[in-house]
Amino acid sequence: MIGKVYICHHIDTEGPLYESIEELFKRVKFITGINLEPTKDNIIKLQNREIEISDELWKELKLIVDPHTINFLGEWGQIDTMLDTIMSSSYRNELLDIEGNGWLYNWHIMDHVGFTGANPRRRDLGYLKIFEYYESKIKATDSYMDVLHWHFHPISFTKDAHIPATSYENSMYDLHQIISRRLIEKEWFPLVNRAGFHTVRFDSSHFLEQWIPFDPSNQAVKDEFQPKLQRDLTNGRFGDWRGAPYDWSIYQPDHRDWRKSGAMNRYVARVLNMNSRHRNITYDELVTAFEKARKGENVYVGITNHDWRDMKREIDDFRILLAKVIEEYSDVPFIFSESKRAFQEILFSSEQVQEEAINIKVELDSKHLVVYVENGETFGPQPYLAIKTKDGQYYHDNFDYLDHSSQNFNYTFDDYTIPLDNIEKIAVATNDKFGNQAIKIISL
Ligand SMILES: [Zn+2]
Repeated sequence: MIGKVYICHHIDTEGPLYESIEELFKRVKFITGINLEPTKDNIIKLQNREIEISDELWKELKLIVDPHTINFLGEWGQIDTMLDTIMSSSYRNELLDIEGNGWLYNWHIMDHVGFTGANPRRRDLGYLKIFEYYESKIKATDSYMDVLHWHFHPISFTKDAHIPATSYENSMYDLHQIISRRLIEKEWFPLVNRAGFHTVRFDSSHFLEQWIPFDPSNQAVKDEFQPKLQRDLTNGRFGDWRGAPYDWSIYQPDHRDWRKSGAMNRYVARVLNMNSRHRNITYDELVTAFEKARKGENVYVGITNHDWRDMKREIDDFRILLAKVIEEYSDVPFIFSESKRAFQEILFSSEQVQEEAINIKVELDSKHLVVYVENGETFGPQPYLAIKTKDGQYYHDNFDYLDHSSQNFNYTFDDYTIPLDNIEKIAVATNDKFGNQAIKIISL
């Protein structure tokens, strides 16, 4: 039996990102030590290697100043124009999968909130900004094959919008505000994670383990391809996947080390970059995946990029690689896939996914909200609770157990929490380990 290759395109969906010329030269200096006046002439100088530089450092500089790499889409209008092209059915259908379907996008949506410091890269700040933009873009282009998923950037000490950080614990208020608002206003709950800056840490690993079963964030590459020169990425800074599997296998992580296989419940898949400075999808990587499928396994191939770059160029480049590989592996079926579908079909039987699907019953009786899990099991230990008050505040809180069962839950609305009179909406959501989802909303 030959397996299938599931090609899942994950986009870190963040809206416009502006970069000043000063910022580019700062990065050039930080990474290569080259200190030049920030001018357009000097960019051309660098691109043409009209400077004294070793071959080794040039390899790195070339990537930093590549015309594609430095071309950021800094305004919504630019992104919109690109999306009109890549979301059109003619573009999607330039290459069809084994089921006759064209290209499909997994949009991992970010809310830029909690960034009360500087915003030099002009990110579009605010709740649901990017979510609503893509929601209406999908509608306008009839792109109902696409799905909105989860993406989050932790907030740094300075709270500047352009400074990366790794701690979910330091960002917990904003994190729950984002989830609570999406759940109550959009009836949406996270199911598939893309780690911000490709970075999982001890605390985010345990956060994911409570709520989100699918985590295509692994960027492990063979040691010889590890970024060595890039000074901003040494010693495991940011996306540290050293030692994680690089053979396209899906694994369940260890609770002490997210890179190792262990006893946690979520599933981690591998995702490589498209036209980035490192950890790129290559012809050889695709061959590894198709070879694995030929031997009988279903294989998850994640590829990723950002909506603030020219995605068309990056997809076109990938399609050239893919076209070459599918010609050589014409016996191996491949699918352009939504992430959930790929995880489900690779890991479980369809009977299991259906028969054990999570189902919850929610009852509001005077001041008690009671949740019964009627079928299946919650992915984490409890369902997610979000509350909206009549004055427009959003809250998340823990459940109590209702009784001895670990799958029946209670929440009490009183003076210690919020009296029911003050509440407009209550939402309860949970996934199960198979990627099924249950959401109940109560409007008062
Ligand atoms: Zn990101």
